[in-house]
Amino acid sequence: MPSRTTSRRALAAAALVALAGAGGCTGAADADPDRVSVVTAFYPLQFVTERVGGDAVRVTSLAKPGAEPHDLELNPQQVAQITDAKVIVYLKGFQPAVDEAVAQEGGDRTFDVSTATPLLTASAGGHDHEGEAGHAEESGDEHAGPDPHVWLDPTRLATIADKVAERLGAADPAHAADYTARAKALRTELETLDREYAQSLKNCQRREIVTSHSAFGYLAERYQLEQIGITGLSPEDEPSAQRLADVVTEARQHQATTIFFETLASPKVAETIAREVGAKSAVLDPIEGLQPGTTGDYLSVMRTNLTALTSALGCS
Ligand SMILES: [Zn+2]
Ligand SMILES: [Zn+2]
Repeated sequence: MPSRTTSRRALAAAALVALAGAGGCTGAADADPDRVSVVTAFYPLQFVTERVGGDAVRVTSLAKPGAEPHDLELNPQQVAQITDAKVIVYLKGFQPAVDEAVAQEGGDRTFDVSTATPLLTASAGGHDHEGEAGHAEESGDEHAGPDPHVWLDPTRLATIADKVAERLGAADPAHAADYTARAKALRTELETLDREYAQSLKNCQRREIVTSHSAFGYLAERYQLEQIGITGLSPEDEPSAQRLADVVTEARQHQATTIFFETLASPKVAETIAREVGAKSAVLDPIEGLQPGTTGDYLSVMRTNLTALTSALGCS
């Protein structure tokens, strides 16, 4: 009887957790010895690893739902999870605390997804007009550098999924073919999403998106949009008065109907700018983490984002 097997398995798992606890081992990832324990640094990497790993892995995410992951701080238990994991999937340059812990504890068990696909260099949230020097760039108070928000291009996320499959296959050769097959299935779904984006954003009245922090560089590049970021690569950056004034000018110039804010950061600045230019504000989710209790996933949030974009940009 399957239900009996399941409950017996659950009991065995519970016993193992108890044993692990008694032994002072803090890594919950050790609870099921049949599965490869994988630590992922934040949601999109968790999504990919769970989809590619399937029931052969046990994934622990360092960033919890509802928490903004850029400035994640690790408690000792999370550092222990990194120490105990068989594979650690992270994105170098996105979360300083994770970079540091991985450098100290990760050894050769790490997979840095920024090596999977070349990263874009972030401009300072501004964009160029034809025949004009980059007018918004000069005021940027943000650290330009590699832009980590690579998951917002679904085709790049598909490439990351392929590489995660390779990495899991190296750690667990017995399931290598399964990892490859699941990455391929995920790629199909991501490419479908990519086609929906390309089609829906083909004919639009505007192509400029005013966003809270400059998280949408890859999305903008993939679908020929122009990102006007209020702050830089991190939501923690405080926009200068000059930057705010520039964004207002830009928003007016491009007749923006919508100023976008995020789910995990304060909407205040976006709302102020929206009032100033007579636009509305709406959510465009950078999918750095899920909202607590949501039933959505990367694919569904991307589709919600697409609806918000086509409405804001007047796409037909
Ligand atoms: Zn970000
Ligand atoms: Zn402009």
